[in-house]
Amino acid sequence: MPSPLKILLIASEVEPFAKTGGLADVAGALPKALSALGHDVRVLLPKYRGVERAAGELQPVVPRVTVPMGDRVVEGSLLEGRLTPKIPVYFLKQDAYYDRAALYGLPEGDFWDNCERFIFLSRGALEALKALGWRPDLIHANDWQTGLLPVYLETLYRDDPFFSGVATLFTIHNLAYQGLFWHYDLPMTGLGWDLFTPAGIEFYGKINFLKGGLVFSDLLTAVSPTYASEIQTAEFGDALEGVLQERSQDLFGVINGIDTEIWDPATDPDLPKGFSARDLSGKAACKAALQEEMGLPTDAGAPLFGMVTRLADQKGLDLLVQILPALLAEGQLVILGSGDERYHQLLGEAARTNSGRLGLRLRYDAHLARRIYGGVDLFLMPSRYEPCGLGQLISLRYGTLPIANRTGGLADTIKPVVPASRTGTGFLFSPYEADAFLGAVRQALQAYRDRGLWQALQQNGMAEDFSWEASAKQYIQLYRKAIKKGAA
Ligand code: ADP
Repeated sequence: MPSPLKILLIASEVEPFAKTGGLADVAGALPKALSALGHDVRVLLPKYRGVERAAGELQPVVPRVTVPMGDRVVEGSLLEGRLTPKIPVYFLKQDAYYDRAALYGLPEGDFWDNCERFIFLSRGALEALKALGWRPDLIHANDWQTGLLPVYLETLYRDDPFFSGVATLFTIHNLAYQGLFWHYDLPMTGLGWDLFTPAGIEFYGKINFLKGGLVFSDLLTAVSPTYASEIQTAEFGDALEGVLQERSQDLFGVINGIDTEIWDPATDPDLPKGFSARDLSGKAACKAALQEEMGLPTDAGAPLFGMVTRLADQKGLDLLVQILPALLAEGQLVILGSGDERYHQLLGEAARTNSGRLGLRLRYDAHLARRIYGGVDLFLMPSRYEPCGLGQLISLRYGTLPIANRTGGLADTIKPVVPASRTGTGFLFSPYEADAFLGAVRQALQAYRDRGLWQALQQNGMAEDFSWEASAKQYIQLYRKAIKKGAA
C-alpha cells in the first residue's frame, strides 16, 4: 500500500467560497475526492470579502505572513476554515488586496493591481506554509493566478531546506487567460531579470504568469485529453504552443468530474419534480414548469433547447445567432447567461423579435441553471474551444442530450448517437461552422421524434459515470510521478 500524500491545492477561486467559473468547481470537488482516497489534502485561496458566508467563523493560524514585494514588505495573515471536517482550507488574508466587491475586476475592467495581488498569493502561500510548519509533498497550482508559485520554488526558495523535495503540478483550466503584465512590475516579483527571457517568464515584452507555471512545474495537466493535445497546435495554443510542445512529455489530460451529490436530478431541491434514469416521468413536469417560467407556450411536444453559459466569444454565440431562425422554426429555446455587453445586446434583440419562442435571462442564477438542465430536452454547447466543459456533464446527468462542437472536453465526454444501435449520448459537429451546427440540430430533432429511441439515449447519458473518483486516482498517479521526478 503506497503511503498517503500531503497535497496543497492552491487556486484563486474555490466552490463554495468564491466562484466565477469552472475552476472553482474543480478546486472545490477534487480535494474531496482526494481526501476520500485517504490523502491529506489542504486548500489555499485568498480571503475575499464574504467568504465567511460559506466558511463560517475562521480561525487565525498564522498571525503574520510577511512577504517581500520588491522594495516593500507586505504583511498578511492566514486563517483556517474547513471544506469538509477532514479538509482544512487556508485563507490568505490581506484586506487591501482581497477585501473587494469582486475577485478579479469590475465590469469596466480588471483591477489595476492584479499583478501585485497574485504575486502576493503565490509568494504569500509559500511564506504561510513555512510559518505554519506544514510541508506538503506536492503543491497543485491552477491557472495564471498561481503561475508564479512553481517559479518561486525553483528560484528564490530553491535552497530553502523547508521546501526541499516539494514537487509541483500545474493545471491549465483555460489557456486563454494568461496574466500578462508590463515589465516594470518585474522587480515586485523579486525574480531576477535573468528570468525575463523567452525561455523564462517573458512573453512578447511582457511578464506572463501562466508561462511561469508551464515552464517551471514538474508536471502539467490540462482538463481533458483532447484539450491537452489541441493546445500544442497554433490554432488553440494562444502563442504558447511552442512552450507546450517542448513539455509534451510532461503534459497530461485529466478530465474533470462533477460532484454527483450536488448534481442529482432525483434530489435536486430546485426541480419542481425529481426524476431518475429508471423513472423519467418527472422530467415532463420540469419542462412544463420551465416553459411557464420563461414565458413560452407549455407545449410538451415542442423540442426545448437550452443554454447556460458565460456570454463570451469562446462559447460559440456567433454560430447560435446564425442558426437561430432555423432553430426557432423547429422548437423553443431558453438561454441563461451573463458576460460581454455585446452579447447581452445581441441576444436581447433576438429575444424581442422571437418572444414566445426564445426565453432569455441575462444574469448569473445558480437555481434557474438547475431548472434549465432539468427541464430542457437538448443543451447547446457550440463552443469555439472548450477545455473541459461542465455544462454537458450536468446535462447528461439530467437526461438532457447535448449538441456540441467536437472540441476539447466536449469531444472526450459526449459519445455520438447512432440511432440504429440506440447507442451514444449526444450530437457532435465539426468544423466550427453554422451549417455543421445546424446539421447536428436536425439530426437531434430526428432522434427526438422517436420517443423510444429518445428515452434510450437519455438513459445512456444518465448511466455515464462523471464522478470525480476516477480523475482523482489519475491525479494521485501524476502527483507520485511529479514527486519522483522532483527527487531525481
Ligand atoms: P467556463 O468555466 O468556461 O465558464 P464550464 O462549462 O467549465 O465553463 O463551467 C461553467 C459552470 O458555470 C457550469 O457549472 C454552469 O452551469 C455555470 N454557469 C455559467 N453561466 C451561468 C449562469 N449565467 N448562471 C448560472 N450558472 C452558470
